[in-house]
Formats: sequence, structure tokens, C-alpha cells
Amino acid sequence: MNPTQDHYMSMAPKAPHRNEPRYIIIHHSAGRDVPAKTIHQWHLDRGWHGIGYHYVVRKNGSVETGREESQSGAHAGPDYNNRSIGICVTGNFEENDPTPDQMEALAELVLSVSEGYEIPPERVLGHRDVSATLCPGERLYKQLDGLRDTVGTGHINRSPMLEIVERIQGDLAKLREMLE
Ligand SMILES: [Zn+2]
Repeated sequence: MNPTQDHYMSMAPKAPHRNEPRYIIIHHSAGRDVPAKTIHQWHLDRGWHGIGYHYVVRKNGSVETGREESQSGAHAGPDYNNRSIGICVTGNFEENDPTPDQMEALAELVLSVSEGYEIPPERVLGHRDVSATLCPGERLYKQLDGLRDTVGTGHINRSPMLEIVERIQGDLAKLREMLE
């Protein structure tokens, strides 16, 4: 995984608190597939120290960096902001499903963060687990068990449908070789 390094926080003053991640908290943008830079501007406009999340996972599966991991986030309230990594998945998952690319990128990211800070599966939470909110939307929230399985087993559980598609693509490639 190669998160896009844009260092949005360099545009803003340093956040006042250090972060000691013990949780991973998942959000949705509740709207369009916007870049981290746009979220950064929204959060500056609210008077925050720039983007409140540490990562943004886009619909095409790219991962963009927000606030530095070592800095307290602004995404889950005072009880969790300075002891969690905040990940925003773009989209509104009350209305739509996350894309397969997004889920795969999210799984890779959550796995790598959980390994880095030795965060156990039960500490991978949705925003609604810690605050009165619909975030990260029902259709993403119901996939968090799968993410916790990934963290528990240490490898990504690929969806059966994705494996079928890849097998068909492999067969087609072989067929093409035979025909040439
Ligand atoms: Zn949220």
C-alpha cells in the first residue's frame, strides 16, 4: 500500500495533542468521493487544525494521508481523538455500498495500522460505536465484522465473487493465447 503523501497538515498549525493509537475508528464522508485536500479545507473552515482524519480511502481504492498519525485527530470526540487512528471512507453508506476497490484498500490499511500499533480486532470500531451518529453508514458498518476478521487472522479475506472474476479473467487470457 502506498498512501498518497500530500501532507495536508503542513498547511495548518500543528495539532496541540499527541496521539497514542489504541483504536481504529471508521467513518464515511456522508457525501461525494472527495479528495483529502477538500476535507482538509472543510475542516479548516470549521476552525479545526485542518483535516480531522488520518486517512481517506477513495472510491478507486487509493489511500490519501490526512493528519499525521502522531497527532491527535478530530473525528471521534475527546474520549477517542488522542488514542485512535481515524479513517474516512468516501461516500454515503446509508445510501450506497462502498466499492470493492475501497473495501480492499480499507482492509489493507486497517491491517497495516493494527499491526503497527498492536491494535486487536475488537478495537476496530465504527464512529457510531463511540458517538450518537449514523456514521459510517449501515452498508459499511455491517462490513466491519469482515475487517475485524482480517485483523484477527492477519490476512485479507478476499470476496468469493472477486476470486471468481479473477479466475474467469485468467481462463480468458489462456483462451486468447491458444487462439493466437
Ligand atoms: Zn464519523
